[in-house]
Amino acid sequence: MKTYDVVVIGAGPGGLTAALYASRANLSVMILDRGIYGGQMNNTAAIENYPGFDSILGPDLSEKMYKSSTQFGADFGYGAVESVEDKGDVKVIHTDDGDYETKVLIIATGSQYKKIGVPGEEELSGRGVSYCAVCDGAFFKGQDVAVVGGGDSAVEEGIYLTQLAKSVTIIHRRDQLRAQKILQDRAFKNDKIKFVWNADVKEITSEDEKVSGVKYVDKKTGEEHVVPAKGAFIYVGIKPMTTPFKGLGVLDEDGWIKTDEHMATKVPGVFAVGDVRKKDLRQIATAVGEGGIAGQQAFNYIQELS
Ligand code: FAD
Repeated sequence: MKTYDVVVIGAGPGGLTAALYASRANLSVMILDRGIYGGQMNNTAAIENYPGFDSILGPDLSEKMYKSSTQFGADFGYGAVESVEDKGDVKVIHTDDGDYETKVLIIATGSQYKKIGVPGEEELSGRGVSYCAVCDGAFFKGQDVAVVGGGDSAVEEGIYLTQLAKSVTIIHRRDQLRAQKILQDRAFKNDKIKFVWNADVKEITSEDEKVSGVKYVDKKTGEEHVVPAKGAFIYVGIKPMTTPFKGLGVLDEDGWIKTDEHMATKVPGVFAVGDVRKKDLRQIATAVGEGGIAGQQAFNYIQELS
């Protein structure tokens, strides 16, 4: 079994930064990922809200972060993590490609937006289909956009989009919103927001390979309509990538990981950073900041062990 001071699971911006800080503090570090490094940044075209770059392609930022994260000796390796055993001062990580032993485990496995699974959604992702208003809202200044969903995120992000877009149509499959009352009140008072109720979304339509609208069937009348929109923001849920960590006792009832301000979970030696944490703003900048904290805390934790 290979042994490290620190194993980081997930090579997105959070995990890569944790590895940078821990390896620069002279700890032996392994970064494990079930895919290529970069995480969700690889699915992002232009990133305009990461400091230091006016605009940068997601894969280019991934490459830059990978280079700086491994410059102090951190290893990067393939491994889909299946489970983790807590043996006190040592944690054993089981992957589909071998096991690892580590003093510190940093979980940086991110989260995944749920899809609606209609034609156009996949093909137009990054061409008008988005799951993140803070990331992509600015690309739709002065244009009509649609939001699919009716929960807290859909309404909250819909309200956020009204600062940028000409109009926001919230398309929901029920006849009332699921969002908190206070958010509903704000949305109903906002002149820029329109609502479409009882809508079964069938397709994201396109023109010149970019989103042109959202096609739905009115469940009451059976009629088909299209809401014209340049952006289609989909908020039908988000789930943390935490199944392998169920046995550790660090997950809340919805599967998110709660940490303190040092990114420490309630299990000594286990830290979590980035989108996998229970938090409000899931972005590259926040994942990077948390990665720095966890990498430094790994050093402090190991000092106390010895
Ligand atoms: P992630 O980037 O999600 O990385 C997690 C990594 O963990 C992945 O590489 C995954 O393969 C790996 N992993 C998961 N489970 C396992 C396992 N069991 N074993 C091994 N490896 C595992 N943010 C911005 O700041 N600006 C933007 O413009 C922006 N645009 C976005 C556009 C899109 C389409 C999306 C989806 C997100 C966007 N975001 C943007 C959000 C940003 O990408 C995330 O907040 C950020 O990547 C989170 O980083 P992370 O390190 O927590 O996790």
